[in-house]
Amino acid sequence: MENDQAFIKHAWNLTYLIEVGHDDSNGWVFIFEQKEYLLKVLNGGSWFIRESWMLVAVCQDGTIGEKIKLWFQKIWLQMHNIHKNYISDHRCKLFASTTGRVLEVNADIEPGKPTRGCMVRLHVESNLRKPLPRGFFLNNNNNPVWVRFTFENLIELCIYCGLVGHNWKKCQLLPKATPLHEILLELEERKLDELGEWLRAEHKPKKPLIFPTQRKSQETTTACKQLQIVRGD
Ligand SMILES: [Zn+2]
Repeated sequence: MENDQAFIKHAWNLTYLIEVGHDDSNGWVFIFEQKEYLLKVLNGGSWFIRESWMLVAVCQDGTIGEKIKLWFQKIWLQMHNIHKNYISDHRCKLFASTTGRVLEVNADIEPGKPTRGCMVRLHVESNLRKPLPRGFFLNNNNNPVWVRFTFENLIELCIYCGLVGHNWKKCQLLPKATPLHEILLELEERKLDELGEWLRAEHKPKKPLIFPTQRKSQETTTACKQLQIVRGD
């Protein structure tokens, strides 16, 4: 823990950091000198330590020892392929709301203007117990186009089930009898509206991405259990 504490102190640019112990989920509990430092940490993430996502949440008075809802986390969403005619503050925030709560810190989006390059980027608070959405069809004058979602800094996203917090090779939903190399082949052949590496914003595809065609009935996502990726060692 000592090395981790030094690392966190440096990453959060603090003069000192008090770690008071662990809560009952084995998470770390920290006390901040001033509220502004706490807000800087809360709004500055995502934070990673030893290749694990460090989930952060505020303990209110009296909640230490109780379960804290760590599964609501702030994350940067990128939305690709929105035609400029459909870019407006209201519409883009509505699209983004399918991934979680759109945060107030986002600036207003000017009509027809992507926020970065050719995509729209928004800060959202997502529920990590649910698989992250992959995108949606936008009815562009009856010529539906696939709007693709990617998420920044997802270092532990399971491309098999869509949950954050474990590598696909350790996914509990993998069929036990199928060898890993066969599952890998299946994952490589998946289309863009299914789960895959392309959910990561930094993913550089080796071959052109196959954009999906619209189907009559869209599959619904499945709810999944809470993740525990904050480590106490
Ligand atoms: Zn999984």
